[in-house]
Parts: sequence; C-alpha cells; structure tokens
Amino acid sequence: MQTALVTGITGQDGGYLAERMIADGWAVHGLVRAGEDLADVQRRSPEAVLHGGELTDDDALARVLAESDADEVYHLAGISSVALSWKEPVLTADVNALGTARLLELTWQHQERRGRPVHFLQASSAEIFGSAAAAPQDEQTPVRPTSPYGAAKAFAHHLVGVYRERGMFAVSLLLYNHESDRRPESFVTRKITQAAARIALGLQDELVLGNLDVRRDWGWAPDYVDAMMRALRHTHPDDYVIATGRAHSVADFVAAAFTRAGVPDWRSHVRVDEEFFRPADAGLQVGNPGKAQRELGWTPRVPFEELVGRMVDADLAQLRVRRAPDPS
Ligand code: GDP
Repeated sequence: MQTALVTGITGQDGGYLAERMIADGWAVHGLVRAGEDLADVQRRSPEAVLHGGELTDDDALARVLAESDADEVYHLAGISSVALSWKEPVLTADVNALGTARLLELTWQHQERRGRPVHFLQASSAEIFGSAAAAPQDEQTPVRPTSPYGAAKAFAHHLVGVYRERGMFAVSLLLYNHESDRRPESFVTRKITQAAARIALGLQDELVLGNLDVRRDWGWAPDYVDAMMRALRHTHPDDYVIATGRAHSVADFVAAAFTRAGVPDWRSHVRVDEEFFRPADAGLQVGNPGKAQRELGWTPRVPFEELVGRMVDADLAQLRVRRAPDPS
C-alpha cells in the first residue's frame, strides 16, 4: 500500500485530500498539533493515522517521516491567515519558512535512508507575487511579496526549487484563494456566507468588513486538492499556478452571497471598518492556470456563482438544523 503524509490534515485542504487519498486506496498519515480539534478529521477519515508534532520540532518531524515511511509528502500545514501574519511575523517565518526548510531537509534524509524517491508538495500561495504589476500572474511573474505571510511562503517556494535542483521530486503550487464551507470564518468568504445566512434567518443584522474593492481569484478547494495529486504524480516535478483565471471583488462576493440567501439590498447590512484593512494588500490577484491545464490536464470545475451558492446553501442548512426543534 502506498502511503502519504499530510501536514495540515485538520485544515480545509488536508481534510479533502485525506478523503480522496483514502478512497483511492492509499494509507494516509497526518501531522497534527497539540491541542488541535481532531473531531472532524476522525469522523470523516477514521482510517487516517494521526501523529502529534510541530513544524518547529525537528525530532518530531523526523519521527513522523520514519513512522509513516511516506511515498508522498503533502506539506499543507502552516499559518494560513495573511491577516494573522501581520500580527505574528516572526512566528509566521518560523512556521511557514523555517518549518518548510526543516521538513524538506528531513524528507531528503528520509529518502536517502529508504533508497526510494519521496515526492514532496509545497502548498505555496499567490501572496508570493504581492502587488504584481501584471495580471493575470503566471509561473514567470516576479516573486515580490508584500506581506509577512507572502515573504515566508516565498522563501519556502524558492527552497523547493533548490531541493528540486538537488534531485528531489519537489513541487510548489502557487495556489490562489480556494474556498468551501469548511473554511473558517477568519477568511472573508466564509465570514460573508455565514453572515448572509444569519441575516436571512433574522439572527444577525450587520456584517463588518474591510476593503470591499480588492479583487481575488476564488476557486473551489476540492478542485485545488485534485491539482495537488496530479502535480505529484506527473512525469516530472515543476511549479504551477492553480487558479480559475477570473477575479471578483469582495463586494461582488457579498452581492452574490446575499442574493443567494434571498436578502435584498446588501449595502444596508454592510459596514466597512478600518480594523479589517491590512497594512498592504494586493488590489488584484488573478492567476493564469494555462500551464496546469496543458501539462496536468487540470481544470477548475466550479465557477464563482456556484461556489458562492454552495457555501451559502451549506451555511443556511447548518443554521436551520441548529434552529430546528429537538424531535424528542
Ligand atoms: P487571504 O487572501 O488568504 O488573506 O484570504 P482572506 O479571505 O482573509 O482575504 C481575502 C481578501 O479579502 C483580502 O484582500 C482582505 O483584505 C479582504 N477582506 C476584506 N474584508 C475582510 C474581512 O473582514 N476579513 C478578511 N479576512 N478579509 C477581508
């Protein structure tokens, strides 16, 4: 049986990936942090073997690699919030940049010891391009991050290239924002769909947001997990932009979500507060997935309106279940 190690298995992408890999007959091991809530991953993927360990702990990472004897390593763990990276820049560097350095080097050593290749995937980010001069961005766009998160991810991205030159099957995917109803509310999409659903049901009146004008390229998370699996099983390792190629503003997202939830006049419910603005924020992020389409046969399958619709519907359904009277 082939084995994958997934760091970040409790996150949105890690969860979808574990479910797909297990369905495909793989053994899945996951790295989890002390004190994390494991209920969802244990319920959805009871077959997954979970190992405790931090990305700042070399010994723990070496032990997990040895115990799992992984053929594929999907490195999805880290500080996922750009907003948090402004508050915790040093921690972000330690976890997202140095954590990847530790895991890459230990994976290299693990590969040397077992004498068989280990394929490594780095979940990189559109944030490494910062406020790119050109749109859409592609694999040739200069790496010029403008947030602590982007800078840490940029270091990790470059280091993947170093290990690839050294002979490792190491892939870095430049993932644009990818969402689902498993996104936490710290991300703007879920914050909006939760609020739209709550306002539709009379549970909330106001939604407080930051910059409504920024434009992002939002895709459906399971599609992005599919790209990860394709990239690690391709004939050769490379970097790929994974995006839909279409950008929408935060205001567009709010409008689509409120329409779906059946709430008229979204503007009367939204207040803008400086609290949610960032010190620097790319006005437009949009990726060109052409290379992934040509080389990996990958296409994003869920367009914007459907993505928003699925998230709103899931939030409405959850809230209705919670509000329904207890049948007993
Ligand atoms: P990110 O791209 O990983 O930072 O994903 P987010 O969903 O956190 O943010 C996407 C964009 O939405 C950023 O440009 C934010 O500045 C913008 N945004 C506007 N209002 C909000 C808000 O209330 N919360 C968050 N998280 N982002 C917001």
